[in-house]
Amino acid sequence: MATDTTAAIIGSGASGLFTAQLLNHLTFVHNLKQCLQPDFHHMLHLDTILNEHLPPIFDKRPGKTSTGQWFDSFLYHHAHKKTCLLPKKDHCRHIDWLLFSNQAAGGSWHTYDINQRTISPYHWMEIPGLPIKKNAIRRYTALTDDREKTDALSLRQYFTQYQAQLPPHRLHFNHEVIEIKHNPPYWMLTVKHHNKISMIRATYLILAIGQTEPTWLNIPGEDLSFVSHTNAQAIQSMKKLKPNSHILVIGTGLSAADTISAAQHYKHHISQIVSHQLLTQQSQYTRSSSSHRLMYIGNLPIEYPHQYHVKTMMLYPEKFKNHYTQYLDYQLVALDKQKIAYLIKENQAIKPIKVDHVAFHLGYQSQRSILPKSIMTDNLNTFDHQTLESTDYPNLFLAGSCTGGWFQRFFLGHAFYIAETIKKREYMKNKA
Ligand SMILES: Cc1cc2nc3c(=O)[nH]c(=O)nc-3n(C[C@H](O)[C@H](O)[C@H](O)COP(=O)(O)OP(=O)(O)OC[C@H]3O[C@@H](n4cnc5c(N)ncnc54)[C@H](O)[C@@H]3O)c2cc1C
Repeated sequence: MATDTTAAIIGSGASGLFTAQLLNHLTFVHNLKQCLQPDFHHMLHLDTILNEHLPPIFDKRPGKTSTGQWFDSFLYHHAHKKTCLLPKKDHCRHIDWLLFSNQAAGGSWHTYDINQRTISPYHWMEIPGLPIKKNAIRRYTALTDDREKTDALSLRQYFTQYQAQLPPHRLHFNHEVIEIKHNPPYWMLTVKHHNKISMIRATYLILAIGQTEPTWLNIPGEDLSFVSHTNAQAIQSMKKLKPNSHILVIGTGLSAADTISAAQHYKHHISQIVSHQLLTQQSQYTRSSSSHRLMYIGNLPIEYPHQYHVKTMMLYPEKFKNHYTQYLDYQLVALDKQKIAYLIKENQAIKPIKVDHVAFHLGYQSQRSILPKSIMTDNLNTFDHQTLESTDYPNLFLAGSCTGGWFQRFFLGHAFYIAETIKKREYMKNKA
């Protein structure tokens, strides 16, 4: 027998938790009295902040979906001043929901090293409705107070506080959804908890599954024991190695930079494969957005001292040759059990190098194998950017970083739009 629910949410990161709160009893309306943006003045006081047409001022904003950008513009105005978003209790439109996640509250912040710092100022990591208390988190200096950062441990604690606001009987942590089937009009979920399997039947399915699967190169030896695919794994492995061990870093983005900084902390020798194109184009480089971001924030030594240092090493490797070697335009093609990495470069012989650890940082993807084959696509991008609903499957929604968005502040709006859409549909159904 399956347990019935109106909406099933998968994921307990910021997106999953916020969706749960909105379905539970929260909404946001426009506070005209505090509104600083003339473009929004047509929205009356206490109007729900839904909109289909974005003003042109949004064109250059870094959010990936219009919905995310729209909500963010009510959250922050001109670098960090909060603006005209007013939370409101919405008990009469409560939706019956259940949340399942194979992690604790906080989602992917559980997979990073506890000292991993945020790139965003800490107050941009807040979920609207629960302020992050300055004195309750570890903070790291920046040029101005409103650019201060925090870290993964502090965020885990914050998300645990957030979770405490939600009804515990609806939250199912350490529950993995292992299969999803579509039996219209229902979504059938197979959920595993320890060794127990249960079935859930839901009208609406919200995937807030993040991007938790590291990208692999698919070369021989990538699964050997001296190879890592996340920062947390790389840091744990490097801690155990003797100083002066040889760490090969594959990747040139922000995670690669974090591993390089940690390797320096443990006094290891670092080798890195870097493309000539990245060094010449720097922040104009578009092939990988994380590399582009490293080049960009690496220009800000006070706010991002570690990234600044790594960028300097990448640009001037000869000055750091005692502990940093750069392999320009090489490719890693294989690893073997003897801890040899085989590199190649166009028109040159294979170059074997002896390593102690190899850290891959090639980005992350969403875990798609749980979805029916017919829904699985190369990316999960077949959804409407305004409504976050799948373009092929009604009542299937995507929220958060699994839509391809990078920064939390630019995808919190997904949860809002999804919850409002579900509330409206259920209201219309009941009325009919
Ligand atoms: C090193 C690093 C630094 C970052 N710094 C910043 C920053 O400064 N600012 C910022 O805004 N963003 C930052 N990010 C990105 C940020 O971590 C993510 O954008 C954010 O955590 C995504 O939230 P989410 O809710 O979409 O997904 P996640 O937090 O990834 O949560 C996904 C959830 O889905 C669950 N899940 C997945 N599949 C299943 C399944 N089959 N069954 C059950 N549960 C499942 C997972 O367990 C997890 O709980 C950083 C990322 C990295 C890697």
